[in-house]
Amino acid sequence: MRYPVGMSFLTNTLVPALIVAAIVNTIAMASTTVYLHRAVSHKALTLHPFVEWLFRAAIWLTTGIKPKQWAAVHRKHHAFTDSEGDPHSPVLLGWQKVQAGNVGLYRKALSDPQIIDRYARDVVDDRWDRWFFGHHLFGLGTGIAVLIIVLGPVGGLLAAFIHTNAYLAGNAAVNALGHHFGKRTYTNSAATNLQWLAFFTMGEGLHNNHHAAPSSPRLSHRRGEIDPGWWLIKLLTKARLATLRFDDIKLVASARTPAA
Ligand SMILES: [Zn+2]
Ligand SMILES: [Zn+2]
Repeated sequence: MRYPVGMSFLTNTLVPALIVAAIVNTIAMASTTVYLHRAVSHKALTLHPFVEWLFRAAIWLTTGIKPKQWAAVHRKHHAFTDSEGDPHSPVLLGWQKVQAGNVGLYRKALSDPQIIDRYARDVVDDRWDRWFFGHHLFGLGTGIAVLIIVLGPVGGLLAAFIHTNAYLAGNAAVNALGHHFGKRTYTNSAATNLQWLAFFTMGEGLHNNHHAAPSSPRLSHRRGEIDPGWWLIKLLTKARLATLRFDDIKLVASARTPAA
């Protein structure tokens, strides 16, 4: 049976590109929250070296992010949360500006020559970084080439476009919406919990919980809160591929619930 031209584009190109983009985006989100955020930036868990290498490769291919840069900007955000010096505070800049300009704010923070030395001196380059992971355009180019091989040029570029936009929007939303809209379980920060965003970002949307217990590997604190990144961490610990810094949720001294 012959389909009209528009129908065959839908079934042969758009649907496969959407499915592959969803898979790639889930891998990128999982690697961001488990590896870049919880493991590298907060040392909430330690990964088996091979699993760590897989996450590094995934970040390189799907985002092009350099872990020490991400960790430096993120640690500065924790050091100055919603006060002067926070690289991306919606309280200071407005949530629209952080949502739309998150990448620019990230680059601006990295233009400070001291930031790596001050916030991520412990994240050191090895030979994998020197040859591969430290070259972000090489990683993104390789990732897009793989998509083109799998889906063809139109489908591959379409999948890369969808993933890039979804990934950037999701991460911007944690910084923008996650410090403006939503529930504040703890009063020690302006950060908020947004469960719908947590589904999309593998747990990151439970951002109020995270600011109350930044060194804990688990972002879901209460019944009904769902943190898919934590499910992955539990699987890794069961397989003895990860060890946790704290078994339980370790609140910072200033974390209070309104009733407390
Ligand atoms: Zn935050
Ligand atoms: Zn954090």
